[in-house]
Amino acid sequence: MSLLDKNIGIIGGGIGGLASAIFFAKFGSRVTIFEKASEISEVGAGIQISANGINILSKLGVYPDYLEEVCFPDSILFKDYKAGKPIIEIKHNQDIDFPYVQLHRADLVDALVSRAKDLGVKIILGSNAIAIKTDLNGSKIKSNSNIYNFDLTVAADGMNSGVRQYWFGQSAALFMDQVAWRALIPSDGNNIEPTVFMGINKHLVMYPIRNGELINIIGVQSNKNIVPENWNNEGSPEKFCNEFSDFSPSVNRILSKIKTVKLWGLYSHPPLKSWSNDNVVLLGDAAHPILPFMAQGSCMALEDAAVLTSVLNDTNNINNALKKYEKIRKKRVTDIQKISSKNGKAFHLSNLILRKLFQLNLRLIAKVYPSFLNKRFNWIYRYKV
Ligand SMILES: Cc1cc2nc3c(=O)[nH]c(=O)nc-3n(C[C@H](O)[C@H](O)[C@H](O)COP(=O)(O)OP(=O)(O)OC[C@H]3O[C@@H](n4cnc5c(N)ncnc54)[C@H](O)[C@@H]3O)c2cc1C
Repeated sequence: MSLLDKNIGIIGGGIGGLASAIFFAKFGSRVTIFEKASEISEVGAGIQISANGINILSKLGVYPDYLEEVCFPDSILFKDYKAGKPIIEIKHNQDIDFPYVQLHRADLVDALVSRAKDLGVKIILGSNAIAIKTDLNGSKIKSNSNIYNFDLTVAADGMNSGVRQYWFGQSAALFMDQVAWRALIPSDGNNIEPTVFMGINKHLVMYPIRNGELINIIGVQSNKNIVPENWNNEGSPEKFCNEFSDFSPSVNRILSKIKTVKLWGLYSHPPLKSWSNDNVVLLGDAAHPILPFMAQGSCMALEDAAVLTSVLNDTNNINNALKKYEKIRKKRVTDIQKISSKNGKAFHLSNLILRKLFQLNLRLIAKVYPSFLNKRFNWIYRYKV
């Protein structure tokens, strides 16, 4: 199926939906995005995009042309939460064709929207959409009270995908008993190194964004009380500081500068038997939830978009193409899901002996074989779609 002149509907204008829209448009398709929110925006948080994701952003024509204010970290430092002493510094590989980048989410989303609009993608805002019919000839999307016909519908409607629940028989995503506090503060000229502070049942990540003008702070902790996955969920800065008050004084000094914070529940959903149903296909968090402990969820949505569009463009049979997309992506995202949840456990070790052993192990690696961890993650960062 050459994608030239195909009519494609995309539900969801997040990173996955926008990236797919751009690829479809580049292949000559007519593309409409349906986005529930009244404007496409990402507020108040940073994001890390590793070399594999930047590779895709460059194929989209978004990086570097549409992205200006990014940071290029050399490494990430791991510290103990209390003493604040470095345990290991993992250098980002400098010999990959693409850099590791930290940026403001809003800048990334704005860049994707601008690129999509420049390629003629139509974006319908305030549109709560659902695929209402699908067969091998096409699919229909109902948005508000209008019905639209498409050759193919891509559901990139996120963790709580309505399409996944409607067409793939799954219930809503499950709360993972963990929450993320997310805040930005001005750096006031201070140079902050990207750092992970590993605590007991919680950890904290800090890194600079916007050319170093802002510091992005994420604190993740175990929490049994259900918190929605929702940007509008304001948290209390005082409570955030209190929850992390056992961290080192230097961390506490930084946390005390927070004026506003969002509290975000972490969710997941069980693996699906299939990612497509006739001419409706899932992508990004809608297809495969990834916990944020490897900073790969958006990178995987970007890779999905590249693979989906290229197999569709190369194959005559749409159904075979969708199966091929799933086959190419499933093993990789499953491996990344596993390593992300392993990291989550390692960052939160509460057993004193296990914590000491884990940190000793990392210190040993730092001394004896510092490039070990870079090599271990080569399969993630050097991957080329
Ligand atoms: C704390 C935290 C930190 C993270 N950090 C990183 C990181 O550093 N690097 C990284 O790569 N990943 C990171 N991630 C993961 C990343 O944010 C997600 O994996 C990524 O945003 C998924 O993109 P998506 O397009 O699939 O879904 P989403 O970004 O959720 O987009 C879905 C879109 O669909 C819209 N929508 C939903 N329902 C409908 C409907 N019925 N009709 C129309 N529109 C609809 C929504 O409004 C939304 O705009 C992090 C996640 C968390 C929680």
